[in-house]
Amino acid sequence: MLNANTLKKVWPQTQFRSQEGRAQTLERQKTIRRPVTCQGIGVHSGQQITMTLKPASIGTGIVFIRTDQSKLYDPIPARWDYVVDTMLCTKIGNNQGVTVSTIEHIMAALYACEIDNLTIELDGPEVPIMDGSAEPFVDLIEAAGISEQKALRGFIKVLKTITVKRGKSMVSLSPAGTFSVSCQFSFNERAKLAAQFYEFDGSPASFKRDIIRARTFGFRQEVEHLWSLGLAKGGSLENAVVIDQDQILNPEGFRYPDECVRHKVLDALGDLYLAGAPIEGHFKGVQCGHHMQSMLLNALFADPLAWCFVVPEREDLHSWPLISPVMTTGTAVVA
Ligand SMILES: [Zn+2]
Repeated sequence: MLNANTLKKVWPQTQFRSQEGRAQTLERQKTIRRPVTCQGIGVHSGQQITMTLKPASIGTGIVFIRTDQSKLYDPIPARWDYVVDTMLCTKIGNNQGVTVSTIEHIMAALYACEIDNLTIELDGPEVPIMDGSAEPFVDLIEAAGISEQKALRGFIKVLKTITVKRGKSMVSLSPAGTFSVSCQFSFNERAKLAAQFYEFDGSPASFKRDIIRARTFGFRQEVEHLWSLGLAKGGSLENAVVIDQDQILNPEGFRYPDECVRHKVLDALGDLYLAGAPIEGHFKGVQCGHHMQSMLLNALFADPLAWCFVVPEREDLHSWPLISPVMTTGTAVVA
């Protein structure tokens, strides 16, 4: 285990907080108590997939293992620098070409349950979509039970505002004393529904009350186009909200009046948890999505003055941060 001095050498942006703030509460890293399994369909592949969550030791982070692939393959860390595609979902992969798709909703659940270390085994190419929200994953994690570990939790502190813009989309991370998210979403010509705005205070309690059940959504013509291309094979009204102009095709209707923007918040939480640790800062997203969130983390970590990793003062409880020095060489893609 590395101590504080070693960390300072290899990780110049690391701060050691002793005065006030989050670390003062001595939050500990967490994993789950026992393995748990669920099954469901992959929204893109259409395959029936079994997923098992297993406890993992301090400093592991969140890692995915494809059990249908050779055991010679490395686990895939759920981290921004392993993102390989953001077209229809967030997809990560290792340098041996093994990938896992649709990780964003379980990552949001892990954020909300404050899970730091976990192994996720899958016998197929993607995380099952379940009902399109984060609720089944939170239920699964809570069924497993959550256990505290001996090491303290570090976090990533945003030191200056980083903004990424592309067309009508904008995402930013700004310094703030806590973590919070605000998202704005307009349907534009895709549906005759009013623009939606949502502010989320970052707390697990608010997540479980206001965000957890927000489902993924799509537009009728776009969904039909995906199907014609052989994509979204597992997509249905069982796991997605489908909007047609000013109507929703799902007979049960919306779960929240502004379910779409709440799902945007959910996706952003999952994508931002790929930072490798909780973030202290404010995220703002306008017409945001997986690609924008991925570009934002790349831009943040490419600028050594924009962030630091804060670890608690108690040296005996330090563990190696969930992120590696490779972060300092991340590529910024700022349009
Ligand atoms: Zn989503």
